[in-house]
Amino acid sequence: MTDQLIQTERVNLLDMDVEQIKSWCAQHGEKPFRAIQLARWMHRFLVDDFDQMTNLAKSFRAKLHDLAYIKAPEPITEKKSSDGTRKWLFDVGNGNAVESVFIPEDDRGTLCISTQAGCAMGCLFCSTGKQGFNRNLATSEIVGQLWYAERELRREAGITDPNDRIISNVVLMGMGEPLQNLDNVIPALRLFLDDNGYGLSRRRVTVSTSGLVNQMDKLAQAAPVALAVSLHAPDDALRDKLMPVNRKHPLEQLMGACRRYLKVAPRDFITFEYLLLGGVNDAPEQARALIRLVRNVPCKFNLIPFNPFPDSGLAKPDRERVLGFAKILNDAGIVTTVRKTRGDDIDAACGQLAGEIKDRTRRAQRLVVQKELARDVLAARDE
Ligand code: SAH
Ligand code: SF4
Repeated sequence: MTDQLIQTERVNLLDMDVEQIKSWCAQHGEKPFRAIQLARWMHRFLVDDFDQMTNLAKSFRAKLHDLAYIKAPEPITEKKSSDGTRKWLFDVGNGNAVESVFIPEDDRGTLCISTQAGCAMGCLFCSTGKQGFNRNLATSEIVGQLWYAERELRREAGITDPNDRIISNVVLMGMGEPLQNLDNVIPALRLFLDDNGYGLSRRRVTVSTSGLVNQMDKLAQAAPVALAVSLHAPDDALRDKLMPVNRKHPLEQLMGACRRYLKVAPRDFITFEYLLLGGVNDAPEQARALIRLVRNVPCKFNLIPFNPFPDSGLAKPDRERVLGFAKILNDAGIVTTVRKTRGDDIDAACGQLAGEIKDRTRRAQRLVVQKELARDVLAARDE
């Protein structure tokens, strides 16, 4: 009984940013420098065992044992792609699992992190969205993905120096809509940026959103990291069909929010992600309409050819259409790149992260609506 009581009252220190650790320590009679030592052990040395935190007073360690623990989500599976991409499936309890993907490149190592088990936004082209929504991830489950991946990669590479980081960039582009979980995402972002946490610069941490306008303003105030906005259509009629969020926040509002965000953004542009769906949004006139749409928003474009998944009802774009689309934007002076698909052999590409979600929403009904919409979108093209 007592054990159970203590167990339920203990806190997971991975749920706190450095300021929160300081106030927690203060509540328990410990000075701020102790909190900083603790944060550094957790996030720089990636230690989860209080006994290894050798410069902490024994009395403090005893207190920590009684009151707290450090727990990242446990991996269920780990896959390695032939191109070096890695994917972990993490257990987040109750039959739910989320995915993280590590993408090594010559000059950086990027971890793509999930923020929700499932997603409620219902975008037509997304396999996470197709599964419905289960719940928001806790800060410890968001930070824990980086904590675990960095520790694992360092262990494998035999690195012991905490300044020798393998993961240099973090993108919140995994499963879920990060701005629908701001309460837990903001402390996680603060830890990514904190010098006593992961010490990443604001330019190297990117949040991707489907376009939740009010929450973009909140993010600007609380943790203005780099912003990527999923655009995917040049006009409201098409975007309404592809992304239900557009019915609430149409493009004009979204462009306004992007302009406001730019006042605090760590770079002087917004990255627009533009998913290319064969025959739906990849026509040259749609590229020209995009140029008009973004004329007042300094931006770059990242074109993502659709990654198919079973039953999507949608198609990949032709290679020439992709290149033609990119050329039109580039010729108009908008820096445009085409995203390379990495980790294809382990289903680690954008929009393929599925995890295992116990859907709380009405899945069967949603799938029927989704199929009808996909037919609609494709039919509209042929009119
Ligand atoms: N919810 C956020 C972040 C996660 S999705 C967002 O929507 O921005 C990350 C990116 O993957 C988004 O740009 C999303 O539109 C894109 N994406 C979703 N499904 C995809 C698919 N099947 N193929 C390629 N990209 C996809
Ligand atoms: Fe959610 Fe992003 Fe997928 Fe849309 S694209 S359903 S917002 S994860």
